[in-house]
Formats: sequence, C-alpha cells, structure tokens
Amino acid sequence: MKYVSTRGGMKPARFRDLLLEGLAPDGGLAMPEHYPQIDRATLAAWRALDYRSLAFEIFSLFIDDITAVDLRALVDRTYTARTYGSDEITPLVTLAPDLHLLQLSNGPTLAFKDIAMQFLGNLFEHVLAESGHALNILGATSGDTGSAAEHAMRGKRGIRVFMLSPLGAMSPFQTAQMFSLMDANIHNIAIRGVFDDCQDIVKAVSGDLAFKARYRIGTVNSINWARLVAQVVFYFKGWFAATTSDDQQVSFCVPSGNFGNICAGHVARCMGLPIRRLILATNENNVLDEFFRTGVYRPRKGAETRQTSSPSMDISKASNFERYVYDLVGGDGARVRALWREIDARGAFDLAASGEFARVPATGFVSGHSTHADRLRTIRDVFEASGRIVDTHTADGIKVARDYAEPGVPVVCLETALPAKFEATIVEALGRVPERPLGFANIESLPKRFEVMDADTEAVKRFIAERCNGI
Ligand SMILES: *Cc1c(COP(=O)(O)O)cnc(C)c1O
Repeated sequence: MKYVSTRGGMKPARFRDLLLEGLAPDGGLAMPEHYPQIDRATLAAWRALDYRSLAFEIFSLFIDDITAVDLRALVDRTYTARTYGSDEITPLVTLAPDLHLLQLSNGPTLAFKDIAMQFLGNLFEHVLAESGHALNILGATSGDTGSAAEHAMRGKRGIRVFMLSPLGAMSPFQTAQMFSLMDANIHNIAIRGVFDDCQDIVKAVSGDLAFKARYRIGTVNSINWARLVAQVVFYFKGWFAATTSDDQQVSFCVPSGNFGNICAGHVARCMGLPIRRLILATNENNVLDEFFRTGVYRPRKGAETRQTSSPSMDISKASNFERYVYDLVGGDGARVRALWREIDARGAFDLAASGEFARVPATGFVSGHSTHADRLRTIRDVFEASGRIVDTHTADGIKVARDYAEPGVPVVCLETALPAKFEATIVEALGRVPERPLGFANIESLPKRFEVMDADTEAVKRFIAERCNGI
C-alpha cells in the first residue's frame, strides 16, 4: 500500500514514512492510493473474529512494511481486557429499538481516542527501537487527545511529549488527567488562547522543516494516518455487533470536531462496509454541519470558536476534512490545493453550485447540530429511558441520530467519552454526579505540573529546544 498527499505533491510513500510525520511536504494529508475492498465473503468470515484478530486483518491491508509477526504482537499488546475492561474492547449496548451505543471509552483516559493512541504508543516504541532514533511529539489538544497521547506515551523510551492545550478550557477532570502526570518525558504547555491557536502553533512548528528535522518533531494529532486506521476497526466491530446478516445496512452517528473519527467511518464505508448513513453531529461550533447543509466550508477564527459543554468538539477548522474533500473531488490534488488556497485568500470555499457537492449524498453523509439545551434534554431522556448516563459529546450524537432515525435501520451512536469527564454538565442535567471508574476518585486534587505560555510559536520552539539537549 502506497500513500499520496491530498494536494498531489508527495511522491508515493509507505506507511512507516508517514508514521512520524504530520502534514505531507506539500501541506496536504496522506491518503492511501486506493481503498482496499472487502467483499461479502470476507465480511462474512470476519464476523467471527474477536477485536484483536479483526484489527490485525484491517491493519494488514494498510500496513505492509511491518512484519505480520510484529504487527500481530503490537495488536495483542494494545487491545487487552486489562486496558479496555473487557475482551470485546468496544462493547455495544442497546438504548432503544434500533438505537445502539458503541462504547469506545473504556480505555485509560475514558475517551475514544485511547483506542488509536494506545496503538500508536506501541507502534512508535517499536519503530523507534528498530531505528535507534528518538522522537519529540508535539501536539495540540482540546482535552481528550492530549490525555490519550500522554497516557499512551508516558515512560516510553526515546519519546518526549510536548502537549499544547487552551488555558482554562478543559474540564477539571481532563486537566487533572494531563497535568498530574509527573513522568519526565511529558511536558504540558497551557496556551493563552483557544484550541485552534494551539493547532496553528503545531502547524507552524511542523512547517519549519529545519527545526522539525533537527529536533525530530512528530505528531499524534488526528491527522496522523495510523490513528485513522486504528479507528476504522471499531466501525467494523460495531457493524458486526448491530447486525446478524452480511447485507444489513447500519447508520453510524459520530460526535465530530476534527473530522478524524467520522473520516475513519468514511474509509470503512469506502472499503465496502454496508454503512447506510454517516450522521455527523456537531455542537454549537457547527462549521461541518454548515458544509453538509450548504456546501460552504468556512473555518472560523479562534475568536469565533465558542466554549461549550462538549468541549472536545469546540473546533472550527476540521483538519481531517480535507481527506473527505479529496475523495469528493475524485482524488484531484490540484483541485484540493485550489480550494484550500481559496480558504487562505477568502476565508471559505463554496461547493454548492458544483457537481462535487451533488455527490455528498452518495457518500452517505448527513449532518446536524446540538445545543447546550439539547444536550441536557438528551442526557435526561436517555437516563430516564435506559438508566444510562451518557457524556455531553455522546449526547450531541444521540440528539442528531434521533433527528435522522429511519424505521428498520439500526443507528449506532459512538460513545466518545464517559460522563465522569464532564461531571458539571451531568449534574446540571440530572442533579447527580456520574459514577467514576475505579482509580479516578480524587484526581482533581493531585499535584499538577504545567507551563503557561502565550500563543507564540517561537516561544514554544525555545521551550522544546531547551529540553532537547542532544537531539
Ligand atoms: C475528539 C473527540 C471528539 C471529536 O472527534 P474528531 O475525531 O475530532 O471529530 C468527540 N468527542 C470526544 C469526547 C472527543 O474526545
């Protein structure tokens, strides 16, 4: 399998070449040259597989430069009952007839990002051990990516993590999960700004190719292709759990921000998984919903990004969206380049009048958004009907999933976090504190270690350089 850039300017690369990179050299994102096709016979055979075996099969289609023995060992080390609470890894529960919840948040940081990040941690360690190189991971987080990355990379040899987060914007629980880590290889940097400022700094540092090479800067942001592949697995797993025969259609509803999770669903669908609809849910930061309703993609400025009670979706520039647009325009890198130049010049592009936008329905995408009031109502409804407490992001998904309910078509809502991470809103909705998994009882009171900085790329570079004597 070879990979090319969404902007057409990268010579075909292999999986390992992308592994430690962020953007492609031409500013685009890596995409497979083609999507492997899963026929019905293969799908039928996969139904019997457990999570690890399924992950191994899917990874093998995208990764051909790690030996099968090593890949299998990495998978077996990553997807364990010890890390995820059960051998199912992502169990499915039914909330109502034809409405299911795929539990993706039973890993160490209680959000779906663990599923990909734990794999990445083991993968990086493996690849670095082989090459003898070190790696400095620079990332931006609105909460869940950072803690998932840090918990996946803590204590790993040859790896340092520099994680930028918007000062004061994460929930106390999320903040504690990151800032309480005392591992010497973990560096938390709280930026006076919003998530997009953090993401811009990461892009600027990665865009300084000399600095990037000298300090061996890598990224674990959601544009990382390995993360996307790891997320493809749970769409297959969820589809098997929600069906009994191999031609049944299922819709997936995905609380979305950076478009990473739902992009994995798009990949699964392109591989031939019978997904009817990919229902994209946003919160009040509805830049993606706007695109799917109108054809206009207008990323917002940091100052226009609202802080909401589903903060991991407070994103107004969806990095992975470019991958979808690349497919929508038929893999035309020059066209993607032109569209993104239009964003730089005019702040937006508009596909409404183009034949390209008319292709959206064929990709299965529909969208909707949810507000704080919707979130509270949904959390209450779900609790009253099923006794289950869902987190605020998952509630955004369930709200939009209900708007798109179709008789006879099961909808699988992705549970992207556990409610314990967003306690304040749960208390507002239900007047009660959600149960915390074992080991999380008092994490807010743990000592914290972090640096506060302005949204200043040069200052961040200095901070990294000072901590990297030697490399
Ligand atoms: C990251 C995250 C999302 C958004 O996922 P994307 O891949 O960025 O679209 C939604 N919910 C939670 C809880 C998250 O952590």
